Amino acid sequence: MKFGGTSVADLDRIRNVARHVKREVDAGHQVAVIVSAMAGATNQLVEWCRAAATLHDAREYDAVVASGEQVTAGLLAIVLQSVGVTARSWQGWQIPILTTNAHGGARILDIDGAELIRRFKERREVAVISGFQGFHKETGRITTLGRGGSDTSAVAVAAAISADRCDIYTDVDGVYTTDPRVVPKARRLAKIAFEEMLELASLGAKVLQVRSVELGMVHNVRIFVRSSFDRPEDIDPHGTPPGTLICNEEDIVEQQVVTGIAFSKDEAQISIRRVEDKPGVAAAIFGPLAEANINVDMIVQNVSSDGATTDLTFTVPAADYERAAEVLKGSQGVIGYQRLDGANDVAKVSVIGIGMRSHAGVAARAFRALADRGINIRAITTSEIKFSLLIDAAYTELAVRTLHSLYGLDR
Ligand code: ADP
Ligand code: ASP
Ligand code: MG
Repeated sequence: MKFGGTSVADLDRIRNVARHVKREVDAGHQVAVIVSAMAGATNQLVEWCRAAATLHDAREYDAVVASGEQVTAGLLAIVLQSVGVTARSWQGWQIPILTTNAHGGARILDIDGAELIRRFKERREVAVISGFQGFHKETGRITTLGRGGSDTSAVAVAAAISADRCDIYTDVDGVYTTDPRVVPKARRLAKIAFEEMLELASLGAKVLQVRSVELGMVHNVRIFVRSSFDRPEDIDPHGTPPGTLICNEEDIVEQQVVTGIAFSKDEAQISIRRVEDKPGVAAAIFGPLAEANINVDMIVQNVSSDGATTDLTFTVPAADYERAAEVLKGSQGVIGYQRLDGANDVAKVSVIGIGMRSHAGVAARAFRALADRGINIRAITTSEIKFSLLIDAAYTELAVRTLHSLYGLDR
């Protein structure tokens, strides 16, 4: 059972979480619980690091931001004990949850679940585990898994203890066709395939961290997204509560062409004008960006009309926009281009569905619908089960709603 930030936002909510846990324990289930920091806590910790020094030691950043989860794990253990459930809190290093040393974005390498299982079997002791954090063995330092990382902690622990299910309790009662905060008509999906959830998450839907879906797919963990706000006592621990199951494609009987729509305003566009059209130019542009650890996403290059120069457009995360521009200006001589244009006020809207593999013309309908609304498309990328459109950020909501109706997701 994993509980996110809003689900543990204060003591009342933590008491509510304890009732969910108690219900499952009383029903005879063996459970491990993973908790996030209280809502807003991690943001505050990140902000303090930034205010202390804009450029700071990533190991110390992790020492600071990992603390939020320690508080909630301890508090939940106290509350569980007070309602008669045997419980013990665990930090990442105590289990240990072993990770790489990529501070701020570490990957889980190994978790030994034996002790957790033994304690539950012998004394019905519920483990309350701090999400988001891990431990790098060689340096002995605490690490964190990147924002939203408690989802990944939960799926990894579920795999380590061979859990029947990994329930992700959050502030919505499942995965919706798009963010329900933006489109009130969005509908809850009963099931969604791992591949689709992977796309949805990596293209902007923050309901699950991308890495958690990857892990679930590799280890075949049944991930179930559900609400912590349903009254714990109204739920039948042996029944099927409302929620969304992330599962294999074959387990979905009625596959739609389009399953969901994701969007991200966290994009910036960079256009390099009149680049020399010769071998090695792309390498000269993207090599230095990769070295600077800047992720490049959509890339559009024109075929040169004069045989000499061309234009190249691509996107980077908004937070890296200035840095990317600096890097490119620094290598203008090597690349050989005339002008660099950029825009920070762009958004990426993506349409996802496994059914696209076998249906033609899905994207073409979107182009027409957006044109009818006067929305200009700056760049397009496609893959087997999704396509993404780069548009002006001001039109994001309109575009998402338009596409949501267009593909029949409102119904
Ligand atoms: P938690 O704190 O529990 O980890 P998050 O805030 O990380 O919760 O994720 C839940 C939020 O994800 C929801 O409140 C919702 O606004 C947002 N969200 C974005 N896209 C979707 C989607 N397709 N389905 C459900 N929720 C979504
Ligand atoms: N508390 C961390 C964050 O806000 C991890 C999580 O909540 O999943 O990013
Ligand atoms: Mg989250």
